[in-house]
Amino acid sequence: MVRGVYIHIPFCHQICNYCDFNKFYFHNQPVDEYIESLGKEMALWQDDLAKAKIETIFLGGGTPTALSLEQLERLLTLIHQYIPLEHVKEFSSEANPDELTLEKMQLMRKFGVNRLSMGVQTFNQDLLKILGRTHSNNHVYDVIQYAKQTEFPSISIDLMYGLPNQTMEQWKESLQEAFRLKIPHISAYSLLVEPKTIFYNLLSKGKLSLPGEDLEAEMYGYLMDEMKRNGYKQYEISNFSYEGKASEHNLLYWNNDEYIGLGAGAHGYVNSIRYSNHGPLKKYMQQLEIGEKPVMMQKEVTYEEKMEEEMFLGLRKNQGVSLSNFEKRYGKSLYEAYGNEIEELLKKELIEIKNDYVFLTNRGRFVGNEVFQYFLK
Ligand code: SF4
Repeated sequence: MVRGVYIHIPFCHQICNYCDFNKFYFHNQPVDEYIESLGKEMALWQDDLAKAKIETIFLGGGTPTALSLEQLERLLTLIHQYIPLEHVKEFSSEANPDELTLEKMQLMRKFGVNRLSMGVQTFNQDLLKILGRTHSNNHVYDVIQYAKQTEFPSISIDLMYGLPNQTMEQWKESLQEAFRLKIPHISAYSLLVEPKTIFYNLLSKGKLSLPGEDLEAEMYGYLMDEMKRNGYKQYEISNFSYEGKASEHNLLYWNNDEYIGLGAGAHGYVNSIRYSNHGPLKKYMQQLEIGEKPVMMQKEVTYEEKMEEEMFLGLRKNQGVSLSNFEKRYGKSLYEAYGNEIEELLKKELIEIKNDYVFLTNRGRFVGNEVFQYFLK
């Protein structure tokens, strides 16, 4: 059953040097028309939305906070018009610290948004410039103040390590600043240089200096130790939170549950079909103009593929994959499906089985991708 909705707002006021998401520079884009197209797309999903039990909504991008106050209000009004909200536990929005005003946050609260996910990345001003980000630490402090004023129940920040020229000292300072601010949820990612990004171009010309593997491993080790020491629980490879503050929407993905994806370039998973929408704005909006869903590609997920996904998504969680739930979903036990793989991974001490769960060991978490390969047939 569909349990969540993802809505993509593909506009940004600045383009970060590492970004490979589907996004467009805000200036001169048909933003108002795009929001109306989203309304049309929601209307086309009415039957599925009526049958669904929507528990999480996630506004992502791009940056939803790039929208003006009026545009944001129109978007939130459409969401209230088309998406059944009675079961929604978590309504998140991604945000850039320099775009959040008190008025935007008041508006979000009025429409039920209860979680902000902020792209902070680092508290070091020089590194922010290298990343191509325009906010300053003062913007982050302002948002935290506004969040108190508007009684936002939860805030998350993204932090990155393994950045160009980043020292261990700078990484320590950024993490310690997040702890000092008592941010309830932190996602910490190492930088991946993706093709078609500015960083990729610089790297291929030998103009980007990245920390070596040893330093990155040291940064990761420090992250793990300090999160624990500061009262955070790791619940996924890159995600840490205070008790009860884990992201329900992201857990939906790792639990291999279904969700509707709306917007240009968005992905969804409905009735065992994974699909992705057209990315270019013009194509996305044209399809909706003629009353058709803007789906570019769709594929039915086979029984075998579902089991594979269950394993490599579920093992990302610290809790791991429930043996009883696996059997209930697939009509066979985990041992029947993956006996040899489980045996080998247990021998290598990359996974562990306790009570009803199979999960990665610390060593397994460090080489997660290697473990996931075992379940891809
Ligand atoms: S704000 Fe986010 S989506 Fe926009 S360019 Fe930067 S990383 Fe990409």
